[in-house]
Amino acid sequence: MTKLLYQTDSYLKSFEARVSAIDAENHAVALDQSAFYPGGGGQPADSGSLAIAGVTYPVKRAKKAGDEVFHYLEGDSPLPEVGAAVLGQIEWERRYKLMRTHTALHILCGVVFRDYGASVTGGDMDPLEGRMDFEFETMHHELVEQIEQAVNLEIANARAIRVAILPRDEAFKIPDLIRTKINLLPEGIPQVRTVEIVGLDLQADGGTHVNNTAEVGKVRVVDYKSKGKINKRIYIAVED
Ligand SMILES: [Zn+2]
Repeated sequence: MTKLLYQTDSYLKSFEARVSAIDAENHAVALDQSAFYPGGGGQPADSGSLAIAGVTYPVKRAKKAGDEVFHYLEGDSPLPEVGAAVLGQIEWERRYKLMRTHTALHILCGVVFRDYGASVTGGDMDPLEGRMDFEFETMHHELVEQIEQAVNLEIANARAIRVAILPRDEAFKIPDLIRTKINLLPEGIPQVRTVEIVGLDLQADGGTHVNNTAEVGKVRVVDYKSKGKINKRIYIAVED
């Protein structure tokens, strides 16, 4: 089982670990703990590197398989042994952009629900750009401008962001979480990780976020389109 270090410290850029399993076919290794985000919830997996026994292996991506996070090693260097000591390094510039983008999408989500009562149906992101689908009957230019202004106001408000890991039954008692479809979480999960933008938004979420909305920068709504009668898609860019 890989301990997910990014869940409690999203600012961790490097970490020590041990190789816990090998996937020779995919030239990948699992570690006993990792700061690599393995992808999910619309946030792409991290890239970076692992230094093991004098060899530095570039890591293009990480992926969860059961309870383990596998790190896919680039190049032809022979795989290390189980038990070998590892120094892991996240490609921080890219990850931090993803953190700002992910938080920007939660701000958007919070604003749209607070001001218009519209729920999210899906989302996706790349560094500094993202999209989100809402249950909105009509979407037009003025509305999109209002949403953009409200998002940037919440960034200027410098709201704190808090992460918590709660027992499942406790999480189910939080009314705000129910609207974000916590009931879709698989039965077997004993704990629920929550990400709260204090005073704005609270969601069950496994991703990495910045500590304060002020870190996001400036958000622009770059496009919107209809994805059917009920769903409307909003595209955002986060400015560097
Ligand atoms: Zn999220």
